[in-house]
Amino acid sequence: MDAQILSGKTVSSAVYDGLTSRIENLKSKGIIPGLAVILVGEDPASQVYVNSKTKKFSTLGLFSETIKLPADTSENDLISHINTLNADDRFHGILVQLPLPKHIDSDRILNTITPEKDVDGFHPVNLGNLTAGKPTFIPCTPKGIMRILSHYNIDLSGKHVVVVGRSNIVGRPISILTSMKSPMTNATVTICHSGTKDIFQYTRQADVVILALGSPEFLQGDHIKDGAVVIDVGINRVDVNSEKGYKLVGDGEEASLLKKASAITPVPGGVGPMTIAMLVENTVEAAERSL
Ligand code: NDP
Repeated sequence: MDAQILSGKTVSSAVYDGLTSRIENLKSKGIIPGLAVILVGEDPASQVYVNSKTKKFSTLGLFSETIKLPADTSENDLISHINTLNADDRFHGILVQLPLPKHIDSDRILNTITPEKDVDGFHPVNLGNLTAGKPTFIPCTPKGIMRILSHYNIDLSGKHVVVVGRSNIVGRPISILTSMKSPMTNATVTICHSGTKDIFQYTRQADVVILALGSPEFLQGDHIKDGAVVIDVGINRVDVNSEKGYKLVGDGEEASLLKKASAITPVPGGVGPMTIAMLVENTVEAAERSL
């Protein structure tokens, strides 16, 4: 039997439903949760991501503004934009779309966003709180993965989770969240990366595989055990002969994984919608904290 589809669309709608009364409550107090997005340069994928984030804010009646800056913006100019936004009460959250042009030090930029408005959860204070088991803003993609798992009642306790990828945005935080000592988590976690020898020997042992490497269809059915759960974070554009000229695929090869896994997140429609839902949730949370 084919694997169960873990739909990020379904789970994100439940998240938005749950946020309605919180948003109404804030509005009744004269507060509209607001997000500032800074986009530097013209990267097409980044533009798509930013548009889908701000579109969702406007659909929900929330406030968002995109500050578009040219690719040759200096690091200091970008920092002064962020400082202005840090002091602007209309914005409860600030997001700098990554990746930034190479001449800009991303760490220095992310460190400039005040931790209270860091709805992406990338500031060292927020990452430190997460590591210490006292999360404030949890990075949106790993938070969204945890929400999918809990929505579908997938208990990680005592399970072996193998994460492929160790970025600060996805791989590292999800390895912390899944290994936390709390009900439904408490997993034993292995993190694989480009320095891991024979990754598939690890994925074949996993009860849950979380793919966050950015390599199209890297993992196939033969690389997992029967009944494993696969969470596919990857979003890769591959060229095809169509009007668009490309299609989106995950880090897993869906057809063969569907036959072997017990449950899988699709690409698109899996983790992607959850990332946006968690951004909205974090921004609402930031607005509530400002009360
Ligand atoms: P990064 O490029 O920052 O990190 C990739 C990680 O995977 C690194 O740790 C790297 O290892 C490791 N890696 C890369 N190639 C291999 C390989 N062949 N074998 C083993 N390890 C490998 O990517 P992100 O974490 O930002 O994103 C990962 C994927 O998730 C991308 O496809 C991205 O588009 C997608 N994504 C999707 C989101 C969503 O909402 N669905 C949100 C964020 C990202 P090393 O550290 O050694 O370099």
